[in-house]
Amino acid sequence: MVDNRIKTIFEKGLFRGEIRYDEPMSAHTSLRIGGPAEVMAFPEDPVSLKNILIEAQKENIPVFVFGGGTNLLVRDGGIEGIVISLRAFRSIEFTRESDEQKAVLYAGAGVLFAGLLKFAQKNGCSGLEAFAGIPGYFGGAVYMNAGSFGLEVKDVLGSVALMNMKGEISLLRKDKMKFTYRNSNLPEGHIILSANVELKKDAPDVISERMRAYLEKKKNAQPLGEPSAGCVFRNPEGDTAGRLIDSSGGKGMRIGDVEVSVVHANYFVNMGKATCKNFVELMEMVRERVRQHSGITLEPEIKIVGRE
Ligand SMILES: Cc1cc2nc3c(=O)[nH]c(=O)nc-3n(C[C@H](O)[C@H](O)[C@H](O)COP(=O)(O)OP(=O)(O)OC[C@H]3O[C@@H](n4cnc5c(N)ncnc54)[C@H](O)[C@@H]3O)c2cc1C
Repeated sequence: MVDNRIKTIFEKGLFRGEIRYDEPMSAHTSLRIGGPAEVMAFPEDPVSLKNILIEAQKENIPVFVFGGGTNLLVRDGGIEGIVISLRAFRSIEFTRESDEQKAVLYAGAGVLFAGLLKFAQKNGCSGLEAFAGIPGYFGGAVYMNAGSFGLEVKDVLGSVALMNMKGEISLLRKDKMKFTYRNSNLPEGHIILSANVELKKDAPDVISERMRAYLEKKKNAQPLGEPSAGCVFRNPEGDTAGRLIDSSGGKGMRIGDVEVSVVHANYFVNMGKATCKNFVELMEMVRERVRQHSGITLEPEIKIVGRE
């Protein structure tokens, strides 16, 4: 059931973009799990985004920003309020700070992260190669401080443009941010609109070769083609969650249609019609097993959102 106040907001003519009521989140998450959002809105421009945020604030309606849905476990009851997708915010441009050696790229939050890597490679901009194979949007990668092979998004970031729930826009330089492992620690209630990355110039074919080599390593170690949300648990200090799960005998454990991947134990895969309930139960079971085996309590890396 969609709250009538939400419909009224979108009937005011303040919004440009697509609106979908009762939209199943399973159609938008890489895990293919998740009940419906009351409404999913795809603003075409920052003004439409701002108007919706202001109206939602007035009516006390919750807002959730969705990226590519590749790090999300959405509960079976779906998401209350307004889910926003910034897929229309997808421009990539060279900024004026670029020169012979250095390239500074501006990218919108809705740019596919893989698309940014491709753009950089084609234009001879190096620095993102280690991220090859990370799915989702650029905004999600910044929010999660995504990383791979020792490189994190924060390492290449220059500044981030944010919008708060009042629709006010601000620019935050990297030195004012407090990135930690898989966390941007952005101020509460802020949406990433875009960010700049600082790269070096190099030959496109050399960059392409490095990307290929990184991707090859990933393909051999992770179930990239199967529905998952990447790593389920954070790596504890000095160890990896995958190794701990594997050594506790967790590979192949299954509840309903969710299975601990036999390729990489920190990936849980949807084998068919998995539910969030199955997924959370399996997480608990695996956690308990690791706790008993090694004394370490694993903490989730995936974001669990929505209502039961
Ligand atoms: C096969 C596979 C491989 C993966 N490999 C890696 C890997 O190597 N390294 C790694 O770090 N991750 C990896 N991941 C996890 C995931 O892809 C990354 O965390 C990714 O950066 C998330 O981006 P997203 O757009 O999908 O975010 P989502 O999953 O949509 O959202 C994640 C969080 O970011 C917030 N968010 C998204 N966009 C914005 C925005 N514009 N403003 C504010 N908040 C926002 C959401 O509210 C949510 O809390 C992998 C996932 C899969 C499925």
